[in-house]
Amino acid sequence: MKDGYGREINYIRISLTDRCNLRCAYCMPEGVELVPREEILREQEILLIARAAADLGICHVKITGGEPLVRRCCDSLVRGLKSIPGIRTVTLTTNGILLKEHLQELKDGGIDGINISLDTTDPERYRAITGGGDVARAVEAVHTCVEAGIRTKINAVAMREDNGDLLLFARDLPVDVRFIEIMPIGFGKQFRPVDNRRLLDAIRRDYPGIVRDNTKHGNGPAVYYRIPGFRGSVGFISALHGKFCSSCNRVRLTSMGYLKTCLCYEDGTDLRKIVRDPELSEPVKKEQLKRAIREAVLKKPEAHCFDAPGAITENHLMASIGG
Ligand code: SAM
Ligand code: SF4
Repeated sequence: MKDGYGREINYIRISLTDRCNLRCAYCMPEGVELVPREEILREQEILLIARAAADLGICHVKITGGEPLVRRCCDSLVRGLKSIPGIRTVTLTTNGILLKEHLQELKDGGIDGINISLDTTDPERYRAITGGGDVARAVEAVHTCVEAGIRTKINAVAMREDNGDLLLFARDLPVDVRFIEIMPIGFGKQFRPVDNRRLLDAIRRDYPGIVRDNTKHGNGPAVYYRIPGFRGSVGFISALHGKFCSSCNRVRLTSMGYLKTCLCYEDGTDLRKIVRDPELSEPVKKEQLKRAIREAVLKKPEAHCFDAPGAITENHLMASIGG
């Protein structure tokens, strides 16, 4: 499915919940208000939207949140999504805290890859960033995931230029370590983003042999590098200093069923209104969903406006949008 600028839209990020078992400072620190449970899409509602999206050419799904593993239905949803004709990959983004208990189910359900968010391996810093999280569990999640033979990536929001500890994962394990520039969404506005170009310069000083890796690693905008002797790669997701809007391939479904076409703006369409309409049969709902998705995608904005923060119209938190 093409948008109004001719971009192929084939990827949806689905936020399962705005709830989380951590309280990351840039995402949902202590004290944020949560939406009432009945406002959050149920598993069958998500699957119906996914079936409509797949009919339109969406073939890659990322499950995110909030923390997706706090939703009981996460494992069965993976299985359900994988069985939809046209859906080729289903991957998950998690903080890893609950991953061990779910890994086998996710693997049996056909999960194609897991991203684990880990900003530092230092226990104190991790506790401070995540509002009390135990870094040992996130680190264990990375190892367990790799041992299970699942394609594993580490996502680190770049909070400073010294990230040597995270690079060691890519040295010793077949994982991609990706640095994400903090975006001015929700509490992210309160942080000054670390420029990924400076991060790369700092890494190059320690590893002068670092070279661009042009192989395809997934469906996202990360730019990858390889360091001689490393088993994994190092990636950079640079929404601010490496704007990638011209090749954007994605839409987002919030936990409340709103289809967002750009992280930066409120533009989109309410799909929950259709899936919860008691007057409509399931086939009619699906047709209406397809029409609504197609219309929203046609109006997808050309580019984000993070460089002009006054123009940002999105006021929700990253956790409810689905970062
Ligand atoms: N709880 C899961 C996790 O942490 O991976 C999934 C949801 S979380 C919102 C998804 C990703 O968004 C995480 O890697 C997180 O670090 C990132 N994130 C949250 N707020 C952000 C912000 N303001 N800018 C950039 N990335 C952000
Ligand atoms: Fe939770 Fe992920 Fe947000 Fe951290 S980044 S508070 S783990 S949703």
